[in-house]
Amino acid sequence: MTIRRSPAGETQPAGRLADFLKQVAGGEASPPSGQCNACCFDLNVELDAAEAKRLDHFVQDGKSILSRDENGACTYLDSRGMCSIYEDRPKSCRAFDCRSTRFTLIDMVASAISPAYDKAVAQWTYAEPEDDEELRVWRVMAEARKSYLESIPRQGATTDMSAHVVAAGVLSKTIERLPGRLGRELRKQAKKTMDRS
Ligand code: SF4
Repeated sequence: MTIRRSPAGETQPAGRLADFLKQVAGGEASPPSGQCNACCFDLNVELDAAEAKRLDHFVQDGKSILSRDENGACTYLDSRGMCSIYEDRPKSCRAFDCRSTRFTLIDMVASAISPAYDKAVAQWTYAEPEDDEELRVWRVMAEARKSYLESIPRQGATTDMSAHVVAAGVLSKTIERLPGRLGRELRKQAKKTMDRS
């Protein structure tokens, strides 16, 4: 049986960067993707030890990777193309929000995960900044992105670092650096989220 790929629509609003950062800091970033299952194909979903005990997987370079069928579909997709273990899906699936690569523009430099995934990501349209505060958030993120990308060779991680891991690093640096009330709020929220996990 071939599982149906259900990409998102033509374009989808990704919202505002400041709101997205609030969701990231609160550990609640989750794309309003409806029926889209593009990230359930082709991507390597890494499992921790407990997840590897309960979920079908294969081992690659010492890492436990969620099983996929011959078409690249996660073996936990059901016949309708929906996640059959949604309530118990791995942490990587819970934390994954493809808007992060779009917001940080990492999709422009580190794309090519798979054509279907890239297409799904390209459909996100983010809201343009409306005032000085929003412009500042974008500027801080652009600086964080530049310094994070420059730091990658020094960390010795280039080719194997996936786009969304880089994007998560950029977002976390943005939260670290953002001045003013919003920056303080985000760091407080991020600390709470960290303490909870
Ligand atoms: S476990 Fe569920 S959410 Fe994760 S890749 Fe598989 S089908 Fe998608």
